[in-house]
Amino acid sequence: MELRKDPITRSWVITGDDPAESGPRPEAACRFCGDGAPPLHVIAVTPNTPGAPWAARAVVHPTPLYRIEGDPGRRGDGIYDCMRSVGAHEVLVENPRHDRHLWNASDEEIGHFLHLAAERILDLKRDPRIKYVSLFKDYGKNAGQEFNHPTSQITATTFVPRRVLYELRAGRDYFISKERCVFCDIIQQEERQALRVIEARGDYVAVSPYAPRVPYESWILPRNHDAAFERTSLNRPGLRVNLAALLRRTLQRVRTITEDFHLVLHTSPSSQHPSRNLGYWKTIDDDYHWHIEILPVVGSKAKSYTFKEVYYSPVSSETAVKQLREAKIDG
Ligand SMILES: [Zn+2]
Ligand SMILES: [Zn+2]
Ligand SMILES: [Zn+2]
Repeated sequence: MELRKDPITRSWVITGDDPAESGPRPEAACRFCGDGAPPLHVIAVTPNTPGAPWAARAVVHPTPLYRIEGDPGRRGDGIYDCMRSVGAHEVLVENPRHDRHLWNASDEEIGHFLHLAAERILDLKRDPRIKYVSLFKDYGKNAGQEFNHPTSQITATTFVPRRVLYELRAGRDYFISKERCVFCDIIQQEERQALRVIEARGDYVAVSPYAPRVPYESWILPRNHDAAFERTSLNRPGLRVNLAALLRRTLQRVRTITEDFHLVLHTSPSSQHPSRNLGYWKTIDDDYHWHIEILPVVGSKAKSYTFKEVYYSPVSSETAVKQLREAKIDG
């Protein structure tokens, strides 16, 4: 497998003929908690106390898309660019228990998972080859869920994924013209208008975005400006409890609409990368604002109308937010 760049859209794709795609992958026992499961390559554990049982842990992905060894070997191929898929691909086991998910675990347990995520992101950002670290979760068979156990995944890449790059560029341009963070401005307007706020909890707020890509799309953001998720999460652990609760409650709301969803954390890129583009991230601490995006997969509504170039979302944010706010959740 290798990374190739589309010279027109400038997005990187992983491509090649993957032998693993040819047959079904049997999963008899759970890889992460079942008896007789193959041994895992554990990278980090939380809480990091000898003798204490683990609450969440990071392991190497059994079939990684990115591999940690070597140099990306970025090279030209005529007008094209390609490089080896160097990076990291980890599975974050959110909970030792097979049935404790981010919507039914305790806030303390979810807090441990968030802490582990922050530690892994910070650690991977220290690698000078890495430009970006993504945390994501695909849940449900229509969302491409890979494992039955409650897990999220982390990829560390030698490039910034396209959607994040759009956000970074837009954030920087907005900051240049207004000297304000676009996300802070969005939060202020949403809290003032109260049309699309799902719930505010302590220092965090959940909103339905003004222009959703899919019905019931939901974002969770810190109300105070902060570019990097991992920094606050590690420095101010007290805040994590509110974030854990808001994440859990928002997922419960979304799950009253549909079980399947994608979740992604967008945090600032690595600013340690010694690239010519470094000047690009000079104002990153002021112009970017981390957030979590939840993209529910509403099968019947998405299938027939979605065409990738223009998003079609047949439920307005204002209608979605009413349903999500009124959803019966456990507490
Ligand atoms: Zn399991
Ligand atoms: Zn901001
Ligand atoms: Zn985003």
